[in-house]
Amino acid sequence: MAIKWKWAENPAELNSVELQKLEQDGLDIIDEIVNVYAKKGFESIPEEKFALFKWAGVYQQRPKKDGYFMMRVRIPGGVLTSRQARVIAELGKEYGRGLIDVTTRQAVQYHWLRVENLPDIFRRLAEVGLHSYEACGDCPRTIVGNPLAGIDANELIDTRPIIEALEKEFLLNREFSNLPRKYKISVSSSIYNPANAQINDLSFTPAVKNIDGEEVAGFHVWVGGGLSNRPHLAKQLDIFVRPEQVVEVAVGITKVFRDYGYRKKRHRARLKFLVADWGPEKFLEVLTELIGPYPTRGEDKLIGWNAGYFTGVHPQKQEGYSYVALNIPIGRTSSDEFFQLADLADRYGSGSLRTVNTQNIIIPDVPNEKVDELLKEPLLKRLSPNPKTFEGHAVSCTGIEFCNLALTETKGLMKRVVEVLDEQVELDVPIRLHINGCPNSCGQQQIADIGLLGGKTKTDKGMVDSYTISVGGHLFGEGKFNTPLKGRVLADDVAPVLKELILFFKENRQEGEGFTAF
Ligand code: SF4
Repeated sequence: MAIKWKWAENPAELNSVELQKLEQDGLDIIDEIVNVYAKKGFESIPEEKFALFKWAGVYQQRPKKDGYFMMRVRIPGGVLTSRQARVIAELGKEYGRGLIDVTTRQAVQYHWLRVENLPDIFRRLAEVGLHSYEACGDCPRTIVGNPLAGIDANELIDTRPIIEALEKEFLLNREFSNLPRKYKISVSSSIYNPANAQINDLSFTPAVKNIDGEEVAGFHVWVGGGLSNRPHLAKQLDIFVRPEQVVEVAVGITKVFRDYGYRKKRHRARLKFLVADWGPEKFLEVLTELIGPYPTRGEDKLIGWNAGYFTGVHPQKQEGYSYVALNIPIGRTSSDEFFQLADLADRYGSGSLRTVNTQNIIIPDVPNEKVDELLKEPLLKRLSPNPKTFEGHAVSCTGIEFCNLALTETKGLMKRVVEVLDEQVELDVPIRLHINGCPNSCGQQQIADIGLLGGKTKTDKGMVDSYTISVGGHLFGEGKFNTPLKGRVLADDVAPVLKELILFFKENRQEGEGFTAF
């Protein structure tokens, strides 16, 4: 059942998706899937209902007529137990042809699911505290966090309990299941910004403030970031938030978006457009009316950006322990590998795993004396802690293999490109390569050193895949999106063109200079 919101009074001001959401809350689809469509089969699903499947975390897979679905499973902050990892692996094996992708929001993604499979998947995920619900749709998506939360010498506060509290507040809460558009939250207390604060709708980053003579560790708050077609970097509000106040502030900001966000034009509905129009000052004024006054900003503790890269063996803040961060080539793994990761986490660590927004995975809590043995495990040949330079810094969205919105193929091309570069270019600094199959930017190409955006070009062989190349994106300081170079490059030419570009950089750079200036 849908709540009758104030904006319902003026339907002429609403786009067609909004009108549908007024008729039926997106979360209603979960019961319908379980009680109706899973029993009656794919053919029984009315066309208009597919749009709501997203609230169950499920999309139609390409081509739609074949009746397969993709599903994202939320892993809040990337914190996963070996028991949960085994269930993810089992479900992938039983229903998803053993294919598991790790996404840029620390979620995992299945493909090849049938509607008949969904109730069993929902149930077995829930049994271990996992959900696909609201991993897609106009609602609070998977909350991204520092994958090293709790073990990180470079964080002020362990953010795991805060993310848990936010997840509890937002998940399946009908107060927030009808937002104008998707809504992405990140919370991290690392001074190296691993959760990419500036590209989320709402972010909390580390800060301290002297309050009544006491030095308090808390957060600064950013609003209105987002990628897609018209990317925006988030803006900071002049506000300092204690850890125990994060939920209240997040709820307040989400209500501002829910009640004032744009619902007329779908392409202007993200929070970033409201923040751009209002500015952070007016936004804070409206927020203050809802949640009361907060102290002004304190001292910002963000000092850099690690871009979410951790590969290798590194000491934890707990003496005598290390975390071992593994590269998942192009973000694609499998049920078999997930079973093995769960076993390794149990045998060498504390039974915990962490997914990373660079589509990688970490085994934490490994006693130092066990590290050498872990490094000899056969799985670490493919999921290497010491990947080759380019393979170890490549991010790819799903692309045309499964995604209905895609214009081009992505993962296969990226795999071929990094193979060529790793074979033919020797470089002592990393270059982050990201690829998107359409402007929706699940592959976050705008923050890459080199970003590839897929499109089509007319040739004498017909329309073929081609890519815009953009250079110089980063999230140091306030951040900067990369700049598109002129023209488009055909898929077959991407590897040689990037090789030339990178060799030019190599020959002309100053000593110690990285690819992106900041
Ligand atoms: Fe699909 Fe576009 Fe997202 Fe890639 S960026 S997964 S093509 S919607």
